[in-house]
Amino acid sequence: MKKIILAITENSNHELLTIAESSYRKKFSNLKIYEKPISITKVPYRINIKGERQYLADAILKEGASLLEENSVLIIITDFDIYTYGTNYIFGLATKYMGIVSSARINPKFWSQIPEIYQYTTMGREFFIKQYEKVLLHELGHTISLTHCNNIKCVMKFSNSPIELYSKGENYCEKCQKYINAHFL
Ligand SMILES: [Zn+2]
Ligand SMILES: [Zn+2]
Repeated sequence: MKKIILAITENSNHELLTIAESSYRKKFSNLKIYEKPISITKVPYRINIKGERQYLADAILKEGASLLEENSVLIIITDFDIYTYGTNYIFGLATKYMGIVSSARINPKFWSQIPEIYQYTTMGREFFIKQYEKVLLHELGHTISLTHCNNIKCVMKFSNSPIELYSKGENYCEKCQKYINAHFL
């Protein structure tokens, strides 16, 4: 059974790691938490529309690569805004065996300039956690080469904006779940 290793970037809210752990535990039993934060001091960044640092996700994944163990995948949690080549921002990114999830843009609070998205702040913490869990499951799927799914109810559906993220389902569809089971159960 494949192991999920969870780690967090330095200077990030540790609660995010706790939430991610309990989210994965609902579905997966082989979990390991790596408590030492991953340093991002050498990771390239640019400045986002809010004047905050936005880090290159690909480079954060590289920083975490040494944490991988045999028959495991690694998920890195961060609250820093992230991007990859050719994008304005991303909720997460994954390659084979490694993924990263950023809470920065998932939270509707980020979008104070866009009422259509910002209105979701009224739905509170539970809503945020639900969206965060979607990205956790999505990137985990990619770490074992599960590709995007056309089913709007499936968590493996691609989301290019918060609205798309908020409107898709919270679980894997039957087809994607079968693929997950074959690797993790
Ligand atoms: Zn994806
Ligand atoms: Zn699916």
